[in-house]
Amino acid sequence: MKIIFLDIDGVLNVISQGRDQFGSIFHKHFEDNLRHLIEQTDAKIVISSTWRFSGLDIMKDMWLKRNLPGEVIDITPYCAIIQKDESYESVERGYEIQAWLNKHPDVENYVILDDDNDMLDCQLNNFVKTSGNSDHPDKIDIGYGLTKICTDKAIKILNRK
Ligand SMILES: [Mg+2]
Repeated sequence: MKIIFLDIDGVLNVISQGRDQFGSIFHKHFEDNLRHLIEQTDAKIVISSTWRFSGLDIMKDMWLKRNLPGEVIDITPYCAIIQKDESYESVERGYEIQAWLNKHPDVENYVILDDDNDMLDCQLNNFVKTSGNSDHPDKIDIGYGLTKICTDKAIKILNRK
């Protein structure tokens, strides 16, 4: 199984495109790029964004009602409390993703899509950063979003042998 660890704000949601019962509506272009990524890799989605605090059922419901691409199979656990060492704040999301991966040894490949840097060193080869990309033609604002270049990078990572 291939997994996309998906952050939402700064990846699909940059400048709100309106609202519905779930919250801010995402950019259509970034949704389309996610669809392309899934078509090319057959990866499943695990939500790592703070949007997951609404719960897995709400995330699945949002995917269904908004007709978002792919299948949300899970959300990452909340680990901040058990990672109370000095470094946890800077790699908090990385720990949460690692905790999920440790419980799923059948994952053959994964990619992390996030606009923040808080990943573990061992995850950096599987990380596509969706911010600071002011040179990407289809970025939003000062360089955010799941751009075409980010999408192609993620496809390469997930299809790596
Ligand atoms: Mg974010």
